[in-house]
Amino acid sequence: MTSGMRVRMAPSPTGDIHIGNARTALMNYLLARQSGGTFILRVEDTDRERSDAQKEAGIYDGLRWLSLDWDEGPNVGGPYGPYRQSERHDVHREAIEALLASDAAYYDYTTAEERAAEREAQIARGQTPRYSGSGRSLTSAQIAERQAAGVVPAVRFASGSGAVGFEDGVFGPLETDASEIEDFVIARGDGTALYNMAVVADDHSMAITHVVRGADHTSNTFRQVLLYRALGWEPPNFAHLPLLLNKRRQKLSKRDGSQWLGEYRAQGYLPEAVVNFMVFLGWSPGDERELFSLDELVDEFSLERVNRADAVYDVQRLDHFNGVWLRRFDMDTLAERALPFARAGGLPVDETQQDYFQQALALEQERISHLTDVPDMMGFFFDKDLDPDVELIRFRRHDRAETAAALKTVEGLVRELPEFSIGAIETMLRGLAERLGWKTGDLFMPIRIAVTGRRATPPLFETMAVLGRERCLVRLQRARAKLTA
Ligand code: GLU
Repeated sequence: MTSGMRVRMAPSPTGDIHIGNARTALMNYLLARQSGGTFILRVEDTDRERSDAQKEAGIYDGLRWLSLDWDEGPNVGGPYGPYRQSERHDVHREAIEALLASDAAYYDYTTAEERAAEREAQIARGQTPRYSGSGRSLTSAQIAERQAAGVVPAVRFASGSGAVGFEDGVFGPLETDASEIEDFVIARGDGTALYNMAVVADDHSMAITHVVRGADHTSNTFRQVLLYRALGWEPPNFAHLPLLLNKRRQKLSKRDGSQWLGEYRAQGYLPEAVVNFMVFLGWSPGDERELFSLDELVDEFSLERVNRADAVYDVQRLDHFNGVWLRRFDMDTLAERALPFARAGGLPVDETQQDYFQQALALEQERISHLTDVPDMMGFFFDKDLDPDVELIRFRRHDRAETAAALKTVEGLVRELPEFSIGAIETMLRGLAERLGWKTGDLFMPIRIAVTGRRATPPLFETMAVLGRERCLVRLQRARAKLTA
């Protein structure tokens, strides 16, 4: 393991974090923590129109929700700041000037019309359209003429030719020929740097040792290696994480459902489950284990175990992890997570009812798949005016009058039971079924419907014990009244 890695996440401030970037953040975080290194957050906010403080805050929120704390960043500072790309103009400019000075880059005075015409001609010839570098062969007279006409030049990097490659931490040695890479723009007409230029200047000046990001950036990495070379800088180590695809092996799109952290959170997924799910989008432990906490991953994760094969995004897997994590929590933790969802869903859980909430939640723990299930699932525990729908009773072997009479007997027994405990309730109700000569199910279902208002609930005796004697009595009475009305 490398010690003291300096790694970074470099998100554009979009207001939320996409699953692909969250995975990148997670894996960088793990590498930083396990190597005793530094996890840096650099906000790539050069697209000024789309950037604002609120959107940046959305990134912080998402990372904090996942517990991926960063060591350097816009809000915490650090020795390599500033950590917003928009504030690093001078750093970028210096690199651009150096490239211009050494003729590795040039001002391109071709016009948009000329480049469009070139493209069309290439397409007409059946070629892949690519900028030919014609700006390099303009004469000084032509340039002067264009300057006079107000053409604002972009700065392009002259890619040249010859092998360009790097050792990818996941994919092994990768190589292409520089002649395959068109002369790309590194600075706009207004002097600001474009992505490849800014990222190289920033990664270099921030002493980043490992750049770990999605494989959708591999083609950029070749360009970046060329820039490092032209600047005489040592490139960092690169590793690319496998592409994220949907189950049909296509690029993820909106049609594949939620992919943003904020959406997962709102839908009642646990950050633990999201972390567990994300690490398997590329990594595997090499054995059957599938449950990993963030701390465990700090010990276990390695780039060597990241697969080259595309990672398939399957939300059912996330659901699976969510269920497993929900059942793995101790009651205090589960209650702490569930309470905000209960309240947001309208359950009136006040301070005095925390214990009651927790006891009720314990009965539901097996059945919850998302925290958003909580308000509906637990509604009957908190509904003071629960009005059971007696039509849910099927009256197959016993009619309404018989059922009403049985519920009246239950009421009396509930009132008199010395101790309202699970065991006592069970003994009482089984004894009654026997005395009446009813199948237990025929007796228990109307009781269940009376006290909970639904047919599917946690086990009846436990549920009644948690509801308590008073709630059960009121509800049994109401059900009976409706049956005899
Ligand atoms: N802003 C880029 C992105 O979010 C950063 C890519 C990189 O890590 O260099 O994709």
